[in-house]
Amino acid sequence: MVFTNVYNPRSHIPRRHEMRATRVKQGATLGANATIVCGNTIGRYAFVGAGTVVTSDVPDYALFMGNPGRLKGWMCACGTRLRFEAEKAQCPRCGTAYIKEGAARIRDLYEVISRNASLKSCGNGLFSPVFLSTHTCTVLRIATTSPRASLKS
Ligand SMILES: [Zn+2]
Repeated sequence: MVFTNVYNPRSHIPRRHEMRATRVKQGATLGANATIVCGNTIGRYAFVGAGTVVTSDVPDYALFMGNPGRLKGWMCACGTRLRFEAEKAQCPRCGTAYIKEGAARIRDLYEVISRNASLKSCGNGLFSPVFLSTHTCTVLRIATTSPRASLKS
């Protein structure tokens, strides 16, 4: 892949003082021949398709493709495409649950619960996330340990 470092380069004008930082966050995938224009951030576990030209920030877990790169969907941390129904998705491969927060952001439900809510056991391995905010959520199967722990083995 290609990372640019100056937004408006000219070969005969030194612009080293105009270099912009590019951030690639934990777990992001950058496809073959992707070009990342400087000054943008690739979010955690985002998936940038082969040949994509990234000209804007890429949200966490986003599937970004095209030129210019656009949001085409969402990917689980394990690399499986997510299908949302009623603002929720569960990865068919690893079981990680996600919720949508607006049109351009999703979050790992395990992280949301860890930060914002307490878990109430419903028996049979099911936990009901009890959100402290006005958010409500239907019962989803939540692993008792982080699903990422199993990805590392
Ligand atoms: Zn997954």
